[in-house]
Parts: sequence; C-alpha cells; structure tokens
Amino acid sequence: MLNNEYCKRVYEQILARDPDQKEFHQAVYEVLEGLEPMVERRPELEKNGILERFVEPERVVTFRVPWTDDAGQVHVNRGYRVQFNSAIGPYKGGLRFQKNVYEGIIKFLGFEQTFKNSLTGLPIGGAKGGSDFDPRGKSDAEVMRFCQAYMTELYRHIGQDIDCPAGDLGVGGREIGYLYGQYRRLKGTFENGVLTGKGFSYGGSLTRPEATGYGAMYYLQEVLKHEGEEIKGKTIACAGFGNVTWGICKKALHLGAKVVTLSGPDGYIYDEEGVSSSEEKVNYLLEMRASGRNRVQDYADKFGVPFFPGEKPWGVKADVIMPSAMQNDVNMESAQKIVANGVKYYIEVANMPTTNDALYYLMSQKNMVVAPSKAVNAGGVGVSALEMSQNSERLVWTAEEVDAQLHKMMVNIHKVSAEAAEEYGLGYNLVAGANIAGFQKVANAMMEQGIF
Ligand code: GLU
Repeated sequence: MLNNEYCKRVYEQILARDPDQKEFHQAVYEVLEGLEPMVERRPELEKNGILERFVEPERVVTFRVPWTDDAGQVHVNRGYRVQFNSAIGPYKGGLRFQKNVYEGIIKFLGFEQTFKNSLTGLPIGGAKGGSDFDPRGKSDAEVMRFCQAYMTELYRHIGQDIDCPAGDLGVGGREIGYLYGQYRRLKGTFENGVLTGKGFSYGGSLTRPEATGYGAMYYLQEVLKHEGEEIKGKTIACAGFGNVTWGICKKALHLGAKVVTLSGPDGYIYDEEGVSSSEEKVNYLLEMRASGRNRVQDYADKFGVPFFPGEKPWGVKADVIMPSAMQNDVNMESAQKIVANGVKYYIEVANMPTTNDALYYLMSQKNMVVAPSKAVNAGGVGVSALEMSQNSERLVWTAEEVDAQLHKMMVNIHKVSAEAAEEYGLGYNLVAGANIAGFQKVANAMMEQGIF
C-alpha cells in the first residue's frame, strides 16, 4: 500500500490520465512503493515535480504501418515508440512485435527501461517501441516488408545520438537486420550505432545474444555469494525457451547448475537431468525457436522427458525460480506454490513477470530472496550499450572482453542495489534497492539540468 501523500497523488494522476493502461499502472505502483522511504527523506523531489515528470514520457510516437502480404493483400498495423527519459543518455530500449501490444504495454516497458538502463552505469536513457504485428506464421518476405514499412516512419525519430532501438519479444536478429537495412537506405549513411542486436558482420557485438541470460546468472551468483552459497549443483526452474532462457541454460552448463524446466504456450517440460546438461540440449532451444512452431512439447518428444500440457512450471521443486518468459507469468496462486515448496531464491528475469500481489507476498516471506527483473536482466541492454561503444570506436571487442565487462556490470548492479536498500534501512531488499539506485541517478541528472 502506498503511504506517502506525494506518491499516492502521482499514482492517482496516472490512473486518471490513462485509465486503460493497466500494465503501466502496475509498473509505476511497484516503483513508487520502493521509492517511498527515499521520497520521505528528499522533499526537493516533490518541489521539482520529479515523480510527475518521471511517469510522463518525454514523447510518444504512434504511427501507421501498412504492408503487403505474399498474396498481395494490404494490412495495416500500429507502430509505437515511447521515448521516456533522456536525462542520462540517448533513448535506448527494444522493440516488441506481438499481437497484444498497445500503448500501455510499451509504456510499462519504457518506464522500467529507464531504471534498468540507469542501473547499468552506462549513459543510456529509457525508451521502448513495437507494434501489434505478430511475426509468427509470416513468411520471411512478409516480415521484411513489415520491418521496412515500420522503419520508413521510425527512422525520422531515431539516430545513434537520439534514440537507439533493439530487439525484444518477436524482434530478433532477422528483424534487426531488415530494420537496419531500411534505415541505412533511407539515411544514406552507415550509422550502425542506431540499432543494437545487429548481426556480427555489420557491427553486432559478440556475446549480445547471450548477454541477458549470462547477466542474469552473474547476478544470481552475487545473490548466492551474499547468502554464503554457490551456484554449482543448484536446480533452477525457468520459463520460456527463447533467447533469454537459452542464455541462462548456456551459462548454467558452464557453471554446473541444472535448469530443470522450460515452458511455452502449450505447457512446460521437466528435465530431471537438466536442459543445461549438454550442449546438444542447449542448442536445441535455438532449433525450436527457428522452427517457428512455438511448442515446447518438441523438446519433450526429442529428449524423452515429461511434458505437462497447459500448465506452468511454478509448482516444481527447485532451489531457484527464474521466470524468464513474459509479464505477469507468476500470479498469486503460483506464488503460493513456490512458497509451499520452500524455494529460497526468486529471481525475476522477464520484464515484470510477477503480478504485484504475488510479488509482495513473495517479498514478505522471511526466508526468501527476491530479485527484480530491472536489475537481473539489465545485462542485455548493458551489452547493447557496449555494442554502441564498439560502433563509435569502429572496433570489435573479443567475446572475452565483452563478457568481462558484462560480469563487472552485474556485480556492480547487485552491489549498488544492496547498498541503496541498506542506506534506507530496508535490509537486503533488492527490489526497493534497484528502484532507489536506478532512480537517484536519473533524478539527480534531471534536477541538475533544469526543468524540461
Ligand atoms: N529488450 C531488451 C530489454 O528489455 C533489450 C533492450 C536493448 O538492448 O536496447 O532490456
């Protein structure tokens, strides 16, 4: 519950302004809860209208995306780019292509991105974009035409010192390639820092595909270290089977941890030996994704492990739960199962994977450590920022160099979050700590730069 009058007022204002944007309300509420102790101590925030400015994007662009399918039929989708906050660097954040995308989803993601990007310690502001276009079931040529149409409008709002999009759900290397090709044609210049997650041959960074999953595992290692434990031998329940989960499994294989579940829209699989027990299994995730079938049952069929149709993996016994698929994947019912199983580590990976009631319930458990996605998954955008650095330098770093920087970044994110919570008397509260640490840097930059 919000107690601080200023926080309450700001929350009521967003409800009144955009009553239908429930994901955005959820993200803002969770942040305000965490910021309350700091807002109490820093009255200058209210005087400067910092929270009101924080929750209002600097700019929202909505546009028409007309494209032609293979049969010659024209379709129209809606495109978005929400440029949330540029106080500490050019806007930065992914593009999501998914049927359910609307302004409320892009705003929640852009809002969270501002904190996440600040936590990386690198000079990147917050943004997010996307479309209600669903790339599944479309041919390559259709995806290409859609991406070209999308960029034909977007290009006038972005640039390597203005706003630098990347991928998110439904936008991977293929889409980034088509988007960058169109940008380059329209601008007539090789300005490749404008997009990240590019193919290696035209400026992509080594380790960018793995970065979100690797970063999440490095963060988990820090949490375990704090609790006097180690990662080797730990069992982990994951969700999804996309890019992030693949990165987690790949790093788990190196570190000797065991990822026992994957999930998809069709249900979940349980692999007692571990998805992370062999390279063959880890690599199969790439094949599943490339097939476009969107079925996790294929894994069960191939490796002869149990498949649970229509169910989520949150009732399994594991040392660590890592929801790594999408928002609101873990609700109160799932949270109760997690607690009943005596899980000690709840490490969010996907953006806002927990409903707020479930999150507060998990956080209220004495023996549980809860870590928030805006810190845990920040390695993805962090390595995107390193990709931008390489593009500016016109140099290519080795995988070891990128990985070492990523590791350092994740250690630091955990450290500054834990310290911020400690400073405000909140103990080892990584959720509030990440909100406070991410917020302070941006808020200070906003105050120093005057009202805008
Ligand atoms: N979409 C990713 C995220 O949620 C990556 C964004 C980026 O690399 O700019 O952070």
